[in-house]
Amino acid sequence: MGVYEELGISPAINASGKMTALGGSVLDDTVVAAMAEAARNHVVMDDLMKVAGEVIAKATGAEDGCPTTGAASGIAIAVAALVAGMEPDRIERLPDPGDRPHEVLLLKGHSVNFGAPVRQMVALGGGRVVEVGSVNKVTAAHVEGAITGRTAALLYVQSHHTVHKGSVSLADMIAMGRRHDIPVIVDAAAEDDLRHWPATGADLVVFSGGKAIGGPTSGLVCGRRTLIEACRAQYTGIARPMKVGKETVLGLLQALRTYGDDEVGDGGRERMAALAAQLGGLPGVTATVERDEAGRNIHRAVLTVDPVTARLDAQGVARELAAGSPPVFLRDHQANTGRLSIDPRPITVAEEAELVTRISALLGAG
Ligand SMILES: *Cc1c(COP(=O)(O)O)cnc(C)c1O
Repeated sequence: MGVYEELGISPAINASGKMTALGGSVLDDTVVAAMAEAARNHVVMDDLMKVAGEVIAKATGAEDGCPTTGAASGIAIAVAALVAGMEPDRIERLPDPGDRPHEVLLLKGHSVNFGAPVRQMVALGGGRVVEVGSVNKVTAAHVEGAITGRTAALLYVQSHHTVHKGSVSLADMIAMGRRHDIPVIVDAAAEDDLRHWPATGADLVVFSGGKAIGGPTSGLVCGRRTLIEACRAQYTGIARPMKVGKETVLGLLQALRTYGDDEVGDGGRERMAALAAQLGGLPGVTATVERDEAGRNIHRAVLTVDPVTARLDAQGVARELAAGSPPVFLRDHQANTGRLSIDPRPITVAEEAELVTRISALLGAG
């Protein structure tokens, strides 16, 4: 009996993506082995954190890096580093910023909830979000007009959650940051191109370790050396309750080393096309393959459910599959428009077959 079954829980079939609610990523054997070995030894954590910075630098092209428990804590730590720097009394006083600049300008369409609000992570680090512009329109003039002597950072959130239409570009944000000598933080939590975002000239970039990277529940901040040093210093203050363990650090580094090795090249397109061909024949189901809306190399099978013919709407299909045993999760954030998708990354070939069986049984063609 497995460790989950022993607790009376059946492991889920996850076709929805790298979802925190489903435990993030499933780790490959080399990552699990690195974590197990790390767990069996003591190590000087300060030394480990510095060396980790070098591995992160190599993987991202940034000058240095700092492991975190996730992208969420990475945002808090990045903000804390910019508010308090390296000064011990400032570090220990956070989240009270004292008289330091601590406003963090955030485009209104980027003020999202990824499971918790971005604004709250900024507050945790001693910052205060100032939302700029409107959800669907923010110009450079809006941002420039909001910059004052209290501004500590500009924050840019790169995500499928955020509204990018009608909004000032990252390049413009970085140019404004340079002009006013204000650092730019990019939250690239789920992005898969680890070198692209640091190369934009952003001062600090935050990634999740448990999403695209496929590592354990973890994260990292990378960027300019002096700022990363200030990030590490926050572990003597605000970041202490976000302490990252030796096992997690080693798991993250191993995932970074092997990142991209198993890229299929076509982002799952062929597998998903085969799946779409099987599921598209079901009553009331039209199936296509679509590329990721944020432009990443991920191709998903998209099922459009006609509730009359299928006798169940998309939300009902998702609900029934999740309620079965084992629970099956499709990507359902567009279910209100009749669309459900299947993400190729977290499912095995065996699970694909189970998925077809379950969906066929549910829609009365099994
Ligand atoms: C997932 C996500 C986060 C949080 O990442 P964790 O690693 O789970 O802490 C932050 N920002 C965005 C845009 C995300 O998608």
